[in-house]
Amino acid sequence: MISVIFPTYNEQDNIPVLYERISAVAADIRGHDSEFIFVDDCSTDQTPEILRRLHDRDSRVKTIRFARNCGSHAAIAAGLIACRGDGAVVLAADLQDPPELLRLLVNEWKDGVKVVWGARRKRLGEKVSTKFFSRVYYCLMNYFTTVKVPPLGADVFLVDRAVIEAFKEVNEKHTSVFMVLAWLGFKQTSIEYVKQARLYGKSKWTLGNKIKLTLDSLLAFSDIFIRYISVIGVLTACTGFVYALFVIWGLFNGAPLEGWSSLLVTILVLGGIQMIMLGVLGEYLWRTFDESRQRPRFIVEYKLGLESYSPAGREQ
Ligand code: UDP
Ligand code: MG
Repeated sequence: MISVIFPTYNEQDNIPVLYERISAVAADIRGHDSEFIFVDDCSTDQTPEILRRLHDRDSRVKTIRFARNCGSHAAIAAGLIACRGDGAVVLAADLQDPPELLRLLVNEWKDGVKVVWGARRKRLGEKVSTKFFSRVYYCLMNYFTTVKVPPLGADVFLVDRAVIEAFKEVNEKHTSVFMVLAWLGFKQTSIEYVKQARLYGKSKWTLGNKIKLTLDSLLAFSDIFIRYISVIGVLTACTGFVYALFVIWGLFNGAPLEGWSSLLVTILVLGGIQMIMLGVLGEYLWRTFDESRQRPRFIVEYKLGLESYSPAGREQ
């Protein structure tokens, strides 16, 4: 069986079209039946009612509804934990990733390949700033972490049951699901696709979300910050030392350095650097604190079609 997982947040206009298209593609795939798991990330529009009606009509449609909005990565994690397929495909519910990709992903899932990425070759209808930010994110990941991801980014993927089982062991909250899957290892490959423009609704990824994801990914998979603050500390200390030599040299030559402006600059620069370092330590500290509380990554309000084989409520 193949599980198709859709993180879904306020997608009332997209779901009916998505259902028709994914049903047509799934019918075409020989040798596998399918289940469609919509993880409703606490939508406030008609999404839950539409999903309930689809579930009543077609038992392949299953739903997990969150009690609060937890973000698309938590929704993907919930889908992966609950699914029963031999493989699972994750697709956005906004039709930006064409459902027809399912067939291409399944075709590549052979000869021991356990992860198939749908790598974006092009993104239609996106703002220049969105594309720029995404480019920067994937460059940072490929440059500063040991995890290799497609340079233009991937929003779609297929994972084998072996990967899903390994993923279930990862109990982190402040991380990117995509980075975790890439980090797990296994034989990975990718296909290219063109990310379509949104027909209905708008993107829910705010600048704040993007900055949080970038920090999460860097802190989770790289030691750049914690290493570099020591380097910056050493460099600042060296600069101070050289400056001190300069002042002493001036004293002996009868030309002491005067003026409060140089003092002020020094205080501001040092103060700023120390604040940044404290901020970096704070980022680590609050993540550690938050993980140590062991609150669940998502809270499930109800499930449809998935009740019998997955624990409710506390999933992670
Ligand atoms: N999504 C979600 N929870 C959120 C935001 C988004 O489940 O808090 C879903 C959304 O419905 C869509 C997918 O995640 O199916 C991708 O989100 P979006 O289209 O907003 O992101 P973008 O395509 O701009 O990266
Ligand atoms: Mg989208």
